[in-house]
Amino acid sequence: MIFSPDWSNTLLIENGAVVTLDAERTVYAPGYLFVEGDRIAALGSGPTPPEIRARATEVLDARHQAVLPGFTNAHTHLSQTFMRGLSSGRSLLSWLKDLIWPLQAAMTPDDMHLAALLGLVENLRCGATHVVDHHKITATPAHTDAVCQAAQTLGVRLTLARSWADRGKNAEPPDSILADLERLFALHPGTGLVSIANGPLVPWRCTAETLRQTHALAKQHGAPSHIHISETREEVQMTVDETGLRPVAWLDNLDVLDENTQIVHAVWIDESEITQLATRKATVVHCPVSNAVLGSGVAPLASLRRGGVRVHLGTDGPASNDTQDLFETVKWALGLTRATSLDAANPAPVDVLIMAAAGHALRPGTPADIILVNLDHPRAVPVHDPTSALALSTHGSDVDTVLVGGKVVMRARHVLGVDEPALLEACRLAATALRQRAERAN
Ligand SMILES: [Zn+2]
Repeated sequence: MIFSPDWSNTLLIENGAVVTLDAERTVYAPGYLFVEGDRIAALGSGPTPPEIRARATEVLDARHQAVLPGFTNAHTHLSQTFMRGLSSGRSLLSWLKDLIWPLQAAMTPDDMHLAALLGLVENLRCGATHVVDHHKITATPAHTDAVCQAAQTLGVRLTLARSWADRGKNAEPPDSILADLERLFALHPGTGLVSIANGPLVPWRCTAETLRQTHALAKQHGAPSHIHISETREEVQMTVDETGLRPVAWLDNLDVLDENTQIVHAVWIDESEITQLATRKATVVHCPVSNAVLGSGVAPLASLRRGGVRVHLGTDGPASNDTQDLFETVKWALGLTRATSLDAANPAPVDVLIMAAAGHALRPGTPADIILVNLDHPRAVPVHDPTSALALSTHGSDVDTVLVGGKVVMRARHVLGVDEPALLEACRLAATALRQRAERAN
């Protein structure tokens, strides 16, 4: 397979197990992958053909490593890197109202920038080349811009789902939500590393009219709407009591359930909602670790797959997980689904890896967002099946090298865009000061 763009930067990765995650589940072990500019130019099995090797300006030896598409962490809250370890012993609603929202309200743009850098570094280290931040700190445009700047500094892809709530505590006027979304779409038209999505928080904090308007605006820009749905039984009941409809049916009734809609959690959904999600071609973002830690439940992944619903994986924010390790999420998604459906064969390891890569595959002509994962350690050796090793034996800390758009952004565990020890120290100081400020304010 060969693709021929006109680029001068070339990079060859060879001797690794190339796990393409394509529709045929092709694995080349060993194989090679050749990058020209920002694209994959060629890949295949066995040793690198001499004519390709002759064109390589840089060669990475991936012996005892897997080479696969970068993961998409399809739902997180980067601000919560400053709030790790604060989930214990509370249900979702009390955790949000008593702990998380007061801390978020006290964050400055500088705090937000540091928290985003920290969270994005962790994501890169765990193999995510694309992060969807459901960004809750919209106090000023500077808070939002700080996150986009952090992604650009590190060279990681970011979808910033601009969160909003136009009812309940600290409700934001609809005009200001729409104006800020317009500002962000103009600033980030989707041609660079950063893209924008509509991010309604949750049905019980959003009015029907603003949901319709923001969804329509996002669609004009080809952008998704990204919303928490049915994380807990209590929330489902709140929507049923208020509207007479279950949350997915309520979205459908408002005409905001379509192929641009990303439903985060979907823990408490029934068979009729699964049919609606499949019919409308919506995406579910499955966050099994966060759902378990908060005692919310287990989303019906086996039923979603049987129903033909597209599923991506997210860690959710560090305050409810507490890591951004998508490899951990892969194993939980596989294990919890098999345990609850009493089916040892489904999903297969490769099925869950495909969800983690959000459907991206290694193919000629596609963006060179690639990770090299070390399988040369006692948790993985011997590697009889690279997809099993990746789904069941791998931790995020095994990710060795990360490319985004053909550029190496982490090499041999070293993130290139930031002085990491200095970042950690700055985050420790800023997070301590934030907690003190939030306590004084309450
Ligand atoms: Zn969330």
